[in-house]
Amino acid sequence: MKRTKHQCTRCGSESVTVVPFRVRQIRGESLGYCRHVILEFTIHRVYCHECHHRELEHIHFLSHPKSRLTKSLERTILELRQHMSIKALADFYDLRWHTIKELEKKHLQKKYYHIQTAHIKAIGIDEIHVGRGMKNKQFLTIVRDLQSGAVIHVGEGKGIAALSGALKKLKKSKLKVVTMDMANSYYSWISENFPKAHIVFDHFHVIKLMNDKLDAVRRRLTAKMNDYQRKQIKGLRFICLMRQFQKSSKMPDLVAI
Ligand SMILES: [Zn+2]
Repeated sequence: MKRTKHQCTRCGSESVTVVPFRVRQIRGESLGYCRHVILEFTIHRVYCHECHHRELEHIHFLSHPKSRLTKSLERTILELRQHMSIKALADFYDLRWHTIKELEKKHLQKKYYHIQTAHIKAIGIDEIHVGRGMKNKQFLTIVRDLQSGAVIHVGEGKGIAALSGALKKLKKSKLKVVTMDMANSYYSWISENFPKAHIVFDHFHVIKLMNDKLDAVRRRLTAKMNDYQRKQIKGLRFICLMRQFQKSSKMPDLVAI
C-alpha cells in the first residue's frame, strides 16, 4: 500500500511526521476457495506539528487502527451471526471465539447507544435476580417499552438508585402507563418524576394480597366453628382460592357455614 497523504485526525493538519511503527497482519474476507486471506502491511505512527497529537494512522478499510479484521469481513460476520452460532463462525473463519463475541458486543453498543424514547407511552419496571445470594448487587432492574418490548434501561441493584439512569432517557417520552410490582420505592419514584402517568400493578401481586386476606377470613371463621362444621370444610381451602369457586358444588355449604 502506498500512501501519499497523511493528515492529523484531530485538527486536520497535513503538517505531520510519519514513522513506520510495525508490520501488521489483517484478516480479509474469503475469496473463492481461498478462505484465509491475510493482508500484510506496515502501519505508521503519525505526529502532528500543529496540535502535538500522536496516534496510529487510520486505515480506511479498518473500523479502528487496532482492528485485526477488515471492515468488510466484520460486516459479513455480523450478517452471518443472525443465522449462525459464535462457535460455528469462529470455526469457519478460524478466528477466536472472543474475537467474534467482542465484534458483536461493539456492534450492539454502537447500535443501541442512543435509544429513541420520545414515542414511548407505556413502560414496565421489574428486577431480575442474577448470580447467587440475595444482596442488592445480585439484582438488575430492567425498564422496558411495553409496546415494542425493547429494553430501555438496565440498572445495577434494585430500588430507586438503580433507576437513576432511566430518568434521563425517559425525559422526552410521553409516559402514560407504568406497570410494576407493588414495591413502594418504584411507586414514589414514578409519582415524583411522572405525576401524570397511571400506575398499574402486576395482577399477580394484587391476587396474592386478595388471597392472603381471604385466607385470614377463612382462618378466623374456622376458629369459631365446632368439630362437625370444621370437618365439613376440611380440605376446601383451595376450592375457596380457585377462580371458579362460585361454580363449585361444595360452595353452598361453605357459604352457609
Ligand atoms: Zn493535529
